[in-house]
Amino acid sequence: MDFRDTPEEAAFRKEVRDWLDANLDRAQMQTQLSVGPPEERIDNLRAWQGKLHEGGWAGVSWPKEYGGRGAGLMEQAIFYQEMARSKAPAPINVIGLGMAGPTIIVHGREDQKQRYLSKILSAEEIWCQGFSEPGAGSDLGALRSSAVQDGDHYVINGQKVWTTLAHVAKWCIFLARTDPEAPKHKGITYFLVDMESPGVDVRPLKQMTGTAEFNEMFFTDVRVPRENILGDLNDGWRVAMTTLMNERGTLGFALSVQARIALDELIAKAKVLKRNGKPAIEDPVIRQRIGQLHVEIEALRLTGYRALSTVIKTGIPGPEGSLGKLLWSESMKRLTDLAMELYGPAGLTTEWKGDDDLKRWAFAALRSRGNTIEAGTSEILRNIIAERVLGLPRHR
Ligand SMILES: Cc1cc2nc3c(=O)[nH]c(=O)nc-3n(C[C@H](O)[C@H](O)[C@H](O)COP(=O)(O)OP(=O)(O)OC[C@H]3O[C@@H](n4cnc5c(N)ncnc54)[C@H](O)[C@@H]3O)c2cc1C
Repeated sequence: MDFRDTPEEAAFRKEVRDWLDANLDRAQMQTQLSVGPPEERIDNLRAWQGKLHEGGWAGVSWPKEYGGRGAGLMEQAIFYQEMARSKAPAPINVIGLGMAGPTIIVHGREDQKQRYLSKILSAEEIWCQGFSEPGAGSDLGALRSSAVQDGDHYVINGQKVWTTLAHVAKWCIFLARTDPEAPKHKGITYFLVDMESPGVDVRPLKQMTGTAEFNEMFFTDVRVPRENILGDLNDGWRVAMTTLMNERGTLGFALSVQARIALDELIAKAKVLKRNGKPAIEDPVIRQRIGQLHVEIEALRLTGYRALSTVIKTGIPGPEGSLGKLLWSESMKRLTDLAMELYGPAGLTTEWKGDDDLKRWAFAALRSRGNTIEAGTSEILRNIIAERVLGLPRHR
């Protein structure tokens, strides 16, 4: 594969880069977003998405008729790459833009598309994803939330957990069992639920990072109009697969850029922080670990290209997406752990005394654990790789 941009791709890259240079106040964003109070972070991110939307950069891959840019896969990858390179924060409505919106575009009726899509792009309405439950995470098909028909409505009861952004969301893509007699993956329906409905109780869950980015949700007799079903009744599993296929998308490509930036920052830190009285970078063990991370991040970059080639050729994401996500999340865990080791005992405290740099590293180290769980745990990804890449026997 030729890794160089074609003239059209180079022009597109320049357009993204110029726009980001003109519109992103990096220093302000970095400080406000990574260490500021949570409410301020949400407001800033909402404003940032508004800016992206005005510039025509929200929903890069969405069709033009629904307010997107209608860009191809390569342009999408370039866009994410440039966002990562410029350290631009992701838009607040990640679930709306990357999962709910694309699923509505594929399975929605025209009136649903008109009602929901433009407000996803502008971040006027934030979305969350109510899939996981206490007994249904990796095995999502085991979900037990129920929806029972009552005239023109369905009445939903159940509990969801890990629901990112539910505390600020207006809408939720929600899976509920509508036919308890049907086999596990059948009898599930995909609903679009108004989070302001009576009976929705959202309780933030505080993570070890100190922030509460996700929640548990309790639904008690929540009435949802029948017209808010997405796709067909009892066909929710198929609709949910569209959402999950979009979850990793072309993001893998940007993750390798993010990881490269983090490694370069770590190398710069290792030149400053001391170990046994000398700059840490002079320690052969530290150098070896940095070398190993370099190899992993290069492998991640090339895997990103392979994944992209597969999708461009076949239209279907291959198992490379799982390889990339596994490699990225596990490497970032090792990378941030090394950063914490370089900081020594200072890295262990939760009182960072105004050292924003240490605060960011410590946050990244603690948050990296979550990356190995969300969007498929490392164990589940290893199962996929074992079965679909290595051709080992199925685990069940
Ligand atoms: C930061 C974060 C954000 C999230 N946001 C959302 C969200 O917005 N909406 C949403 O619906 N969900 C969300 N999730 C939930 C996420 O999808 C689940 O946590 C994930 O699917 C794992 O499910 P579980 O937590 O129930 O663990 P389980 O599935 O119970 O797994 C427990 C352990 O067993 C292992 N395991 C399970 N099955 C197997 C197997 N077959 N073989 C080998 N090992 C196995 C797992 O790897 C894990 O180590 C989020 C999670 C995180 C961490």
